[in-house]
Amino acid sequence: MPGKDELFYTKKSTYDIIKEDEVEGAYAYCEEYKHYLDKGKTERECVAQAIALAEKEGFKPFERGMDLPPGTKLYMDTAGKSLILAVIGKAPLSKGMNIAATHIDSPRLDLKQVPLYEDGDMAFFKTHYYGGIRKYQWVALPLALHGTLVKKDGQSVDIVIGEDEGDPVFMVTDLLPHLSKDQDKKTLGEAFTGENLNILIGSRPDGADKDAEKEKDRVKLTVMKILNEKYGIVEEDFLSAEVEAVPAMRASDVGFDRSMIGAYGHDDRSCSFAALRALLDLEVPEKTAVCVLSDKEEIGSEGITGMQSAAFDYFVEELCSAGGSLLRDCYRGSFCLSMDVCNAFDPNFADVSEKLNGAKLGYGLGVMKFSGSRGKSGSSDATAEDVAMLRSLFAESGVTWQMAELGKVDQGGGGTVAKFLANRNIPTIDAGVPVLSMHAPYEIVSKLDCYMAYKGIKALFSK
Ligand code: MN
Ligand code: MN
Repeated sequence: MPGKDELFYTKKSTYDIIKEDEVEGAYAYCEEYKHYLDKGKTERECVAQAIALAEKEGFKPFERGMDLPPGTKLYMDTAGKSLILAVIGKAPLSKGMNIAATHIDSPRLDLKQVPLYEDGDMAFFKTHYYGGIRKYQWVALPLALHGTLVKKDGQSVDIVIGEDEGDPVFMVTDLLPHLSKDQDKKTLGEAFTGENLNILIGSRPDGADKDAEKEKDRVKLTVMKILNEKYGIVEEDFLSAEVEAVPAMRASDVGFDRSMIGAYGHDDRSCSFAALRALLDLEVPEKTAVCVLSDKEEIGSEGITGMQSAAFDYFVEELCSAGGSLLRDCYRGSFCLSMDVCNAFDPNFADVSEKLNGAKLGYGLGVMKFSGSRGKSGSSDATAEDVAMLRSLFAESGVTWQMAELGKVDQGGGGTVAKFLANRNIPTIDAGVPVLSMHAPYEIVSKLDCYMAYKGIKALFSK
């Protein structure tokens, strides 16, 4: 008769499963991940960084008519904001692909299209937040500006201000506690409004000799003069710009034991880096391996750069037709890990989680059979067969993992790109790195969980 150990499902910390040298390897992997975080705070920067890394490993931009023997390494970007990479496998595409689908956009404050104004002898940028943020977290915090302005003649100007030592930073101001009597009575949602998230960018009036009564917008003029001198832009160029205010902090180890990483954008760079690294480290796979770094997940995966875009179908169909395979056969034979972060159990907010099914920090990759909200609404809900396949794959490959669910039933919810793959008739399951303080300007993950995401994707690609 089997004993308790065989009969019961018990979760174990990865530290109690893997050996010391693997822990060291995982920590070393995380050094590269931290570098990726610091160099890629926007979707454009992640795409540029991924292409640079991929080209070093022999990846080439896809072109119709290319020879595609097994081992060919390809990529296709869309608008410089989303990227699909593939390593052609030995089997024809009609047998399907192994896919890791991730996203590279993160919640932030986008500048409005007419952002610049002056008030109270200070200059500000107006913002429109992107993705699900808790607005109170974005005040009194050093911000950096990253973005691209495209001039009328089509010329692009890339800016990154606030990241280098000695760079100025920017900030949304907050109310002092001495005068917060009225604000304190409001709910969190009412006390901090989107329209109030204005970024302070200057306070020095242009031309000290000018008549302050007659000359308006002298601080704004100082700012515009600096921007014009440095970047050759005028105010109108913001109309056709994508400038994102992101936390100016760098990725750091967290804890005396350095077991965690604090950074902006673990959602979903912990998974997108894992997928990218796993693909770059791949030899010639049996089935074609595909890594998707998609954009717009945080706002519904819409548009040409989102996971719903036909750009994905275009790329795969091109590969299929080059080898005489049908796209629908390829999708049907494929498998997708929808790699996105999940919530890590936080004892400080224990009442939103359900302990049996919540992911724990350091317990390995979190696998979610379903996401969604209320009665699993909006989730593609993977099949038992697909979960079983993963159980077996991860056991064979030494991947530590845990079953995860976002939180208590009816506490809230959320979705991922999973359903957009699954709707294409691709068997898909959600998995990802458990995160503390998800969507906050600084999120926390466990180093071992990050590494297990990489190891899990590599196991799928090598299947
Ligand atoms: Mn995500
Ligand atoms: Mn998210």
